[in-house]
Amino acid sequence: MSTSHRATRLDPRAPLVLDTRELGRRAGSMRRVQRTVPAPDGWGLELVRVPAGTPVTLDFRLESVLDGVLVSGSVRAEVDAECGRCLEPVRTAVDVDIQELFAYDAGQQDDDVAAMEGDFIDIEPVVRDAVVLGLPLNPVCSEDCPGLCAGCGGSLRDLPDDHHHDEIDPRWAALAAIEPALDDNGGDTSVASPETAALAAVEPETGS
Ligand SMILES: [Zn+2]
Ligand SMILES: [Zn+2]
Repeated sequence: MSTSHRATRLDPRAPLVLDTRELGRRAGSMRRVQRTVPAPDGWGLELVRVPAGTPVTLDFRLESVLDGVLVSGSVRAEVDAECGRCLEPVRTAVDVDIQELFAYDAGQQDDDVAAMEGDFIDIEPVVRDAVVLGLPLNPVCSEDCPGLCAGCGGSLRDLPDDHHHDEIDPRWAALAAIEPALDDNGGDTSVASPETAALAAVEPETGS
């Protein structure tokens, strides 16, 4: 007689380890697992991530099938991100569904079928992958976020409604920069182009 308990390196009490012993490996038996666990480190990237320690809500159905246990259900986690328009921090959430078959005996299965460890399932990689794939690509602090001013980079939400920048033609801007220099020379302020200004500066030397 073999025992139903097999050696496992998983910690059965770890928050993201599922215990299937109640199912008794009877095809058709079912069990619901609802729990809230602290988010581990490393779910997401620097700018969009699930903060470690924030609550992750799991609502799973464990179903014994012929070759293993089918885990399906939903995961909800909190997400810290940056508004894609105004760059302010955003706290939002991600809701994803998972469905994964865990084989009793990995040796007889394809490589792409996850394996159980004895009577236990390490659900963390499956949950992590689903959550990371479900992270918002372009989060916004609010749907009507006006974003940043293209002229000065200020937050339009904080700037007055009539905030604007006068459009300056780059060529006129160059002239505006030259004009004070002409004044210093005591030159003719009616000079209209940089080329004329250059001639005016050279003239006295060539004339003598
Ligand atoms: Zn925003
Ligand atoms: Zn501005």
